[in-house]
Amino acid sequence: MAIADVTVFGAGIIGLSVAWACARRGARVLVIDPDGPGAGASGGVVGALSPHVPEGWDELKAFQFEALCMAPDWWAGVGAAGGGNPGFARTGRLQPLADAAAVERARARSIGARTLWQGAYRWEVVEVAGQPFAPVSATGLAVLDTLSARLSPAGALAALTAALTARGGRIVAEGRPQGRLIHATGHRGLTADGLGGGVKGQAAVLGHDAGPVAQVHADGVLIVPHADGTVAVGSTSERAWQHEKATDALLDAVIDRARHIVPALAGAPVLRRWAGIRPRAVTGRPLLGPHPARPGEYVANGAFRIGFGLAPLIGETMAALVLEGENRIPPSFGP
Ligand SMILES: Cc1cc2nc3c(=O)[nH]c(=O)nc-3n(C[C@H](O)[C@H](O)[C@H](O)COP(=O)(O)OP(=O)(O)OC[C@H]3O[C@@H](n4cnc5c(N)ncnc54)[C@H](O)[C@@H]3O)c2cc1C
Repeated sequence: MAIADVTVFGAGIIGLSVAWACARRGARVLVIDPDGPGAGASGGVVGALSPHVPEGWDELKAFQFEALCMAPDWWAGVGAAGGGNPGFARTGRLQPLADAAAVERARARSIGARTLWQGAYRWEVVEVAGQPFAPVSATGLAVLDTLSARLSPAGALAALTAALTARGGRIVAEGRPQGRLIHATGHRGLTADGLGGGVKGQAAVLGHDAGPVAQVHADGVLIVPHADGTVAVGSTSERAWQHEKATDALLDAVIDRARHIVPALAGAPVLRRWAGIRPRAVTGRPLLGPHPARPGEYVANGAFRIGFGLAPLIGETMAALVLEGENRIPPSFGP
């Protein structure tokens, strides 16, 4: 390819999703990342696509809802274009309810979910007994939401890479930027441009074949069964760190909590430990649109804890802006 219409800096889930959405529209796309796909936060293991609670609706919750709704078709399209398997499945999520107040709150939210989730998905109180992969619950009850899904982070990156390449896109370690420039450079880019920074997270993969069951969220721990006979557990949240990629006793504590929450994991071996830095903009929201520090260029960053969930809509929204001049970005996602 002699000339690119669009150059994307950063081959994480956000950069690759933007690149794919541009390529799908017929643009010639170049992705530049000195460390290759998945070198940053997107190289992780958890892969939970789960919504915020259905109340206190705002632009971020609406954007996240739209992104989660479009995910099955979008990821199927990525898989079909390049032959990869992103590992998407809408399996739902269980959150145990600790006491009567939590049960009451959950019941109130189920009414909110009916309206805010447009009747398409449920937020309902269910008995834990009899649920496959059941979490411990003091009340015997949990919230089941039917909107949550899972994705294989590695599978999604590989599928995007294959789809992009099949459309003539290129991913290189270095090259001459051409065309419109989009910066999706994660926490490093936010720090370098004075737009934010990062929050470290550690997660692990356990060997346990739970089947296609709901993920579990309790006590700040996410427990996500995947199709490959593993269960991902995470994550820590660290504002300060010495080594980006190091795991330590903080992760041991998360694994212990996960085994306590889901007793079926008691004997599951730890297959992998992983750490990375989530990109967090100063606004605490995604940062999308014209780049505030680089006139004439664009930014797609700050997806923080939910980049895999937001990626399809960030990709499509950025491609529409950059290639068609159509701005559908929520105003609060600006600098
Ligand atoms: C422990 C943990 C668990 C998580 N769990 C989930 C989850 O369950 N669900 C979910 O949706 N999200 C989750 N996240 C968040 C998710 O990983 C991030 O939101 C997402 O990966 C951010 O993607 P990104 O592409 O913006 O950044 P990154 O993946 O960090 O990608 C940035 C890329 O830019 C490259 N780069 C940097 N500087 C330059 C430059 N100057 N030029 C070119 N390239 C450059 C880097 O090499 C890197 O590859 C988790 C994060 C962590 C740490």
